[in-house]
Amino acid sequence: MVKKKYPQRKAYIKEIAGRRIENLYQLADEQMNSDPVLAQKYATLARNIALRMNVKIPERYSKRICIHCKQLLRPGINCRVRIRSKPTPHVAIFCKNCRKFMRKNLKYKKVTGNVTKENPFHEGKN
Ligand SMILES: [Zn+2]
Repeated sequence: MVKKKYPQRKAYIKEIAGRRIENLYQLADEQMNSDPVLAQKYATLARNIALRMNVKIPERYSKRICIHCKQLLRPGINCRVRIRSKPTPHVAIFCKNCRKFMRKNLKYKKVTGNVTKENPFHEGKN
């Protein structure tokens, strides 16, 4: 028997998974102060759903996950955020759970040539 494929159904399931991930991360964020263990449970569940259904975690949450222990981080509660300049400008995030550092580089775009020609704000005047 040939197995039928339902692309519409798959998209619908992914949409539901995305909504559930969003809800779970929101709950985890709310519970962070009062019950960190429950918050971590929510975050783990959301991550497992994302991995199983091949759905991207929203960027505002994926940037706040420890790459070593996968815990949802919040500055002041379970992580420490510092700006460092050496060797290159970066944000150093220290996870208090696994006591490891994460580094996020700050990239600067070099401005070369005549910028005013490409500036979109100057187009309206002429
Ligand atoms: Zn960690």
